Amino acid sequence: MEFTLIKKDPTSRARLGRIVTDHGKADTPVFMPVGTQGTVKSLVPEMLREAGVEMVLSNTYHLYLRPGHEIIHELGGLHRFMQWHGPILTDSGGFQVYSLAPLRKVTAEGVIFRSHIDGSKHFISPRLAVEIQEALGSDIMMCLDECPPYPTTFADAEKSLALTTQWAKESRDVKQCSRQALFGIVQGGCYPELRQRAVRELINIGFDGYALGGLSVGEPKEIMFELIRDFTPLLPENSPRYLMGAGTPDDIVVCVGYGIDMFDCVMPTRCARHGLLFTNEEKVVIRNARYRKDEAPVDSSCDCHTCRNYSRAYLRHLFAAKEILAMILSTIHNIRYYMRLMGRIREAIEGGRYAEFSREFLSRRK
Ligand SMILES: [Zn+2]
Repeated sequence: MEFTLIKKDPTSRARLGRIVTDHGKADTPVFMPVGTQGTVKSLVPEMLREAGVEMVLSNTYHLYLRPGHEIIHELGGLHRFMQWHGPILTDSGGFQVYSLAPLRKVTAEGVIFRSHIDGSKHFISPRLAVEIQEALGSDIMMCLDECPPYPTTFADAEKSLALTTQWAKESRDVKQCSRQALFGIVQGGCYPELRQRAVRELINIGFDGYALGGLSVGEPKEIMFELIRDFTPLLPENSPRYLMGAGTPDDIVVCVGYGIDMFDCVMPTRCARHGLLFTNEEKVVIRNARYRKDEAPVDSSCDCHTCRNYSRAYLRHLFAAKEILAMILSTIHNIRYYMRLMGRIREAIEGGRYAEFSREFLSRRK
């Protein structure tokens, strides 16, 4: 993987860049739709490409449990398995173990947990997390980390950080494949001193990119923004910076202004499946009775397949009738909304007017 920093916005800390992998490029700031089970729910890869998606995220935890990384490896790797031939980032599985698996236990060597699918017992070490991701063949891999819950005492956060740093070293040491990049994850809870230590230690180990983890886990938004604002600039300028799992449109616009290059979030796809559609003005709750006879598209300024062809009344009907197409058409729109937003963000940085764009965008949505 190669990252090129193309331009820095003079009015903010926003950056324009490009990630190039063996599976193609992604212009940054980039938003990666989440393909948890090796699929971005309800869309085929052609639909993703048509919406302008360049890079997707997939979850190691889920693919390890089902169908198993060995099977995917035998079948030619994740790109071939899911027929997405663009760049793929895989997480380490850590976050899902902490959030989904019952009866987990963290030791110095790794995490013991039970599958949320069938209750079977598993153990993931930093080494195995890298081996699984190497077997999947993703373009960007993440180190196994420990993600402490919010709130956590300083002592617990410090202990957890020591473990995450130790695991980061081990991950770096076992990585075999030079084609695949490995990112370190900055933890440290809500304690600036620990975050600072985390950044220092990760830079010493040396990674292809750096992620901010353990955010958007229930802490107040102001604290999250403060940590991102203060710690993003400490990360190496010539490496991509990835904010894990946080991504309302407003979060993205704010955090790009702090120098974040990469985002992922289930928000556009999950909201779509619940009939919540993004537009610049409002979130459209498509089941609402007011759309019963509404012939307009979801968003008249949107160029997606859904908005070009279907009315709000039709979408509302599909949701009421519980038709599968409701989810497909809604997801197409929400993903395209996110891709158009990223396009406007990159244009504003290119034009050297990101602060103005950000101010305008955030005030319009209030
Ligand atoms: Zn649309």
